[in-house]
Amino acid sequence: MIFRSPIKHCKNCGSAVIYRIPDDGDTKERAVCPACGTIHYENPLNVVGTVPHLGDRVLLCKRNIEPRWGKWTLPAGFMELGETTAEGAARETDEEAGAQFEMEDLFTVMNVARVGQVHLFYRARLLSDQFNPGHETIEARLFNEADIPWDEIAFKTVKETLQRYFADRRTGQYPVHNIDIV
Ligand SMILES: [Zn+2]
Repeated sequence: MIFRSPIKHCKNCGSAVIYRIPDDGDTKERAVCPACGTIHYENPLNVVGTVPHLGDRVLLCKRNIEPRWGKWTLPAGFMELGETTAEGAARETDEEAGAQFEMEDLFTVMNVARVGQVHLFYRARLLSDQFNPGHETIEARLFNEADIPWDEIAFKTVKETLQRYFADRRTGQYPVHNIDIV
């Protein structure tokens, strides 16, 4: 996950934009079109996913895409327009793992301000141990806490979520965790 590249051309007229503080009292530099005046606002993106669990095991997917090819992740991806956070998390779980599951409550909300993202994970109760992963996944399989490949986890937000999930399992209480990733 890296910062998005700067906007180069105006979405309205195609002219080359320049980064400057707009004349409307704004305080941040924006991509402003010198031809038509359009100001392009860039805002954080949401990544949504699940912690699919069955008994004391959690489902991880081995990534078949960059970045972090070959590393393990929870099913997650960018939210699409027109869907809710829970719908997006369920869609990613279906696409990446082909799992049968029932959505549960929101579990982690993580600000990754450095790259302009917010990651949200829901718990999801698996209804079967059979998976049918899509092209983004090399392998989908269940792990006990002791078998989690902690050094091969693709993203820090996934690691943070897994650590809290297994900690909360011991108490049976799953409050929402708000975490700032630095
Ligand atoms: Zn323009």
